[in-house]
Amino acid sequence: MSDLLKCYLVSKDAESRVSAEVTERSRDDLPEGEVLVRVAYSSLNYKDALAATGQPGVNRIFPHVPGVDAAGTVAESGVYEFVEGDPVIVTGFDMGSNRWGGWAEYVSVPQDWIVPLPERLTLRQSMILGTAGLTAGFSIDAIQRHGVTPDSGPVVVTGASGGVGSMAVAILSKLGYRVSAVSGKPSAHEFLTKLGAAEILPRERVDDRTDKPLLPRRWAGAVDTVGGNTLGTIIRSTQLGGCVAACGLVGGGDLPVTVYPFILRGVTLAGIDAAWATPLPLRHETWFRLSTTWKPDLLEEMAQFVELDQLPEKIDDILAGRMVGRTVVTIGGEEPLREDD
Ligand code: NDP
Repeated sequence: MSDLLKCYLVSKDAESRVSAEVTERSRDDLPEGEVLVRVAYSSLNYKDALAATGQPGVNRIFPHVPGVDAAGTVAESGVYEFVEGDPVIVTGFDMGSNRWGGWAEYVSVPQDWIVPLPERLTLRQSMILGTAGLTAGFSIDAIQRHGVTPDSGPVVVTGASGGVGSMAVAILSKLGYRVSAVSGKPSAHEFLTKLGAAEILPRERVDDRTDKPLLPRRWAGAVDTVGGNTLGTIIRSTQLGGCVAACGLVGGGDLPVTVYPFILRGVTLAGIDAAWATPLPLRHETWFRLSTTWKPDLLEEMAQFVELDQLPEKIDDILAGRMVGRTVVTIGGEEPLREDD
């Protein structure tokens, strides 16, 4: 391993101006960790775009390497659980937030942050799924735990053409749910229909501006990536005993609702945090499901692949809400040999 590592580095100058470049850093700049992973693929998530442009709330330490996702092979390990050559996935926790992230040739992480690559996934596929797939998975797990089945009624997914949204549409459809996909992009209708959406609604249909505490019952469940008045509208439109998984805030961080949906319809609002709050057994179980029964059929068609130096354009796209599906960053790109290869 060379002493210099290629990475996407975000810096802040004395006037607080943020800039980014693909450059090389010394191996000594890696944070201490139990396991060193040679990165094959990373991905671009909304949170990465915030970190890459120095927006507050994600990262406090500069210079910084973003990337909340990484998949690759173990290069060095100080723990028994992992040995050199093991294919692994690392997502969430502080990676790419306040700690060197996956937009680099190597990451160094605590062992608890690592999930062994499930047998039926390649590294490439694991990063098409990435934090977006995991977040969709946790959201669907939450609505299932609250008793929402395909027979309960339709499930609405907002931000449907984005990373988390498209994964949620694909997985829910595969599991037999009738999915109402909410999207502001007419150009993404064909994509969403292919993923299995039963109907596609414009954003305005889920943005009620009246002050009615309850609206006609429309959905048994929801995966909401938008927040704000959209989330408020969904909660007010949820059926008796329904469950709304709230995981995002691209439309705003406020939540204009009263207690009535909760106390008159028994609606559950499930908060989803894929970075820290999910217990490790559920994290492992969800990756297993994503590699088997929940694996989207059109996984390859859900992603575009870019190199580190193509990221600035994609960062602009995701911040402007123009992204469709997932963006995977090819770094090393090699897959490990497996017994059945
Ligand atoms: P993407 O940009 O890929 O997807 C977001 C989608 O939301 C867009 O494609 C667009 O879809 C829609 N959208 C964008 N802007 C607006 C707006 N102003 N109003 C309504 N809809 C809008 O982002 P990700 O999928 O990576 O992330 C989505 C959200 O989920 C983010 O807030 C992110 O921080 C959060 N997140 C949370 C996680 C957690 O652990 N809780 C983990 C991962 C993500 P369309 O055009 O189809 O409407």
